[in-house]
Amino acid sequence: MRVVLVGPPGAGKGTQAQFIASHLSIPKVSTGDIFRSNVSTGTDLGRKAKEYMDRGDLVPDEVTVAMVASRLAEDDAQAGFLLDGFPRNVPQARTLKQLLADWSLRLDIVLELVVDHDEVIRRLSGRRTCRQCGRVWHIAFDPPTRSGVCDECGGELFQRDDDREETIRHRLEVYQLQTQPLITYYADEGILLGIDATGPVEDVTDRALVALRRFTR
Ligand code: ADP
Ligand code: AMP
Repeated sequence: MRVVLVGPPGAGKGTQAQFIASHLSIPKVSTGDIFRSNVSTGTDLGRKAKEYMDRGDLVPDEVTVAMVASRLAEDDAQAGFLLDGFPRNVPQARTLKQLLADWSLRLDIVLELVVDHDEVIRRLSGRRTCRQCGRVWHIAFDPPTRSGVCDECGGELFQRDDDREETIRHRLEVYQLQTQPLITYYADEGILLGIDATGPVEDVTDRALVALRRFTR
């Protein structure tokens, strides 16, 4: 199955992606995670992406698309994948469509996580990420047992640089201007399904899995 998760920053895409991908036995491809790992190891790609990420802007399409194309060509993505954070604008969506068409493939479903603005702010301002395993926590909604330490692997939790108030505001503007048009684009393609992404994480996962079953062809 080939799935895209879309929604504003903080909607819970990364949180849901880990459960949905493991349930469907397909790899989760998160462009944000790939960029962050390249920034932390200091690769060329990381150096190119960092200034945009720090500002809360989108990394240029040619950089992002080349990275995704090479990731989707890997063996583990041949039976399907779950994209989290890509595409982020209509040109990226068109490029993805063409890339898949070149391989005689297409997307099955685009799942939109619907959450209101205030909830997104609450989620982003309390988000903490494990430096070691990447697991996402929240200081109030999903706190680790020991503050600042990941329950899964014992790694150190950190607040993302782009989760500071100023950058959050800018990222939400970027979402509205550049990413929101994807909703209409995919609705016109007939593969968009929105789900309520509020409430407990497990409830959102259940709604997502029900939605995915409806779209399996
Ligand atoms: P995204 O990948 O869409 O930016 P994340 O998955 O990183 O969003 O989630 C943002 C924050 O919200 C994290 O701190 C996460 O723990 C928290 N979160 C995710 N889903 C829920 C939920 N259903 N209820 C409360 N908090 C949530
Ligand atoms: P995320 O982890 O999805 O919140 O992404 C963090 C940052 O990585 C974004 O603010 C962008 O700077 C960059 N990024 C992630 N995905 C994309 C994408 N598809 N296109 C451009 N930039 C991206």
